[in-house]
Amino acid sequence: MTETLRMTTPIIAAEAISKSYSKGAHKVPVLQGAGLRAMRGEFVSVIGQSGSGKSTLLHVMGLLDSPDVGEVLLQGERIDDLNQRARDQLRNQVFGFIFQFYHLLPELSLLENVMMPLMIRYSLREYWRRRKEIRDSAMDMIQQVGLSHRTLHRPSELSGGEMQRGAIARALVARPEILLADEPTGNLDSTTGCEIMELLTSLNQNSQLTIIMVTHDESIAGQAHRIVRLAEGRIQTVSQEDAA
Ligand code: ADP
Ligand code: MG
Repeated sequence: MTETLRMTTPIIAAEAISKSYSKGAHKVPVLQGAGLRAMRGEFVSVIGQSGSGKSTLLHVMGLLDSPDVGEVLLQGERIDDLNQRARDQLRNQVFGFIFQFYHLLPELSLLENVMMPLMIRYSLREYWRRRKEIRDSAMDMIQQVGLSHRTLHRPSELSGGEMQRGAIARALVARPEILLADEPTGNLDSTTGCEIMELLTSLNQNSQLTIIMVTHDESIAGQAHRIVRLAEGRIQTVSQEDAA
């Protein structure tokens, strides 16, 4: 792909996604032709009421779930229909995820949690060969999120904001191109939520990280470049403005 094409093709696109869940004998439609495209370096918020399908759309875009109908394209190439192994690899290398409840592993230290994506990437032998490099990458990422003084702490010894910073470090340690964030401030008080938003904004600006963030909080959503709303299973554009 030429550089021009690379810059004008969305880095990630969900095209006409439909998905239903079965509730007993009923099929409940959640997404009904939802489409969302993000350019490289863009920070997009997805808002919508609870139950509108925001998490489902994010999971489909990040290959955590499959659409019934529609396609997910990475840099113009379809990825949702790849085999399991290829999908696992993309999930590990292209996407980083953060969630409302952090999902750090409780029995591991912060450092071990952050190293995990890189440990999973390599065979055991390769991990041993690269363990210093992996540890250094994790320490570097922990420093970037401002947690160098918490490296050996377990999640239970961290505050909510610190746990989310740790989850961000884990999501970014493998240098993904796209961060998918599902209600990242949803469990934090507003001051701590603002600090997490400042961190995400600076990561977006300083490293051209593409971010798609789901939230039901309009003031949090307003900190992205662009807001879209998910309602009745579809994406409706709310506003488009360049970040100042
Ligand atoms: P949001 O993140 O906007 O709150 P979700 O994507 O989590 O919405 O859920 C949308 C709808 O799909 C909800 O009605 C929810 O109950 C339903 N749903 C989500 N996941 C599942 C599942 N794994 N099985 C059955 N129903 C589900
Ligand atoms: Mg949700």
